[in-house]
Amino acid sequence: MAETFEHARALILENVSFLPTESVPLIEVVGRVLAEEIRAPWDLPRWDNSAMDGFAVRAEDCQAQKPLLIDGYIPAGGTADGLAVKPGQAIKIMTGAPAPAGCDAIVPVEETEEQDGRVQIKGRVNAGDHLRLRGEDVRKGTVVMTAGSVLRPAEINMLASFGLKNVAVFRRPRVAILSTGDELVEPGEQIGPGQIINSNAYSLAAAVVEIGGVPLLIGIARDNRESLKEKLTEGLQADVLITSAGGSMGDRDLVCEMLQEVGVESRFWKVDIKPGRPTAFGLKGGKPVFSLPGNPVSSMVTFEELVRPALLKMMGHQRVIKPFVKATMRETMTKKPGRVQFLRVRVVDNGERLIATSAGDQNTGILSTMLRANGIAVLPAEREQIVAGEEVDVHMISAVDEPESDL
Ligand code: AMP
Ligand code: MG
Repeated sequence: MAETFEHARALILENVSFLPTESVPLIEVVGRVLAEEIRAPWDLPRWDNSAMDGFAVRAEDCQAQKPLLIDGYIPAGGTADGLAVKPGQAIKIMTGAPAPAGCDAIVPVEETEEQDGRVQIKGRVNAGDHLRLRGEDVRKGTVVMTAGSVLRPAEINMLASFGLKNVAVFRRPRVAILSTGDELVEPGEQIGPGQIINSNAYSLAAAVVEIGGVPLLIGIARDNRESLKEKLTEGLQADVLITSAGGSMGDRDLVCEMLQEVGVESRFWKVDIKPGRPTAFGLKGGKPVFSLPGNPVSSMVTFEELVRPALLKMMGHQRVIKPFVKATMRETMTKKPGRVQFLRVRVVDNGERLIATSAGDQNTGILSTMLRANGIAVLPAEREQIVAGEEVDVHMISAVDEPESDL
């Protein structure tokens, strides 16, 4: 019996868990998921400081329009120790330098004229102008990031601002990718009659890299028990094993049988989806194993819809299921009821709304349609037809098109 799409995905997510954490240097953490809570060890900024190159002044002294005596200089990296702005005086200051005592405003250099040790202030000055106050950004002790935060350049800047050199993040899954089939040869090898190139390994590896996993290409298992047993055993050394092909009902489709043989407990063997029905999932000692269809389009779509959420969960992500965008279907599409259909679509923003058009021949064997697609419309199982003008749910796989590039 085949699982429904939603149940299959839920079963997968229930059965995978976070990988252990590791301490990683900041330079390598972009895209990773934080595994610890970060509290500010100090105020940010750490002291009142100047937001401009200019002069630290007392705002009230600037009303008189009389030149102020320059009584000191605080460069970037300098300190304001022992310095104070006295009535009728100013202290020259650089951006970021600590504000001296007594001042309540900074006048940018562009709004001043300096001559003979004095500075003439042009224009109005209000108390607080161009001063950054201690702790105005972050107060010491505040939680600035919780476990589960995805580390982008902004988060990394703040971690570095607090002097952290390493942070705890969830480990990246090592994902063994095993292709199966007697007909397969590797790219660069002599290709004979009846043979095809093992292209799936490359798209699956790319998809793993794209979401931050580490692919391990372990080659090709042939359609016999010995070869499969050896390669499946090798693949089970990784954190996740993904196989492609050999999982349907063909004579030599031994993958499912051999998965059982090497101790993988099946959770499901088939899913009511098109493409991708012969997709299986099981576990060996808690380690997830996915058997994806051999057809290149099917292997990519099932990775996107079923494997990707699992890998994201293992990496500590909190949002693992891609949110749908709503797009209006341009043409009427018919489908077989009883299965969720993944329609390869091109989504264009026409300025008012998103319009989805079929990216081409939807036959599972047509790889070029996948190249033209920037989204996968997920058509509900029970539907037989989506009428032109209806809204569909789309998982974007690359950016929405601008109207000019409308196909
Ligand atoms: P199978 O599930 O073994 O019947 O394979 C389904 C289809 O996918 C067949 O046309 C295979 O030749 C093709 N196929 C299987 N493995 C790969 C692969 N690694 N790369 C590209 N195509 C493949
Ligand atoms: Mg095969």
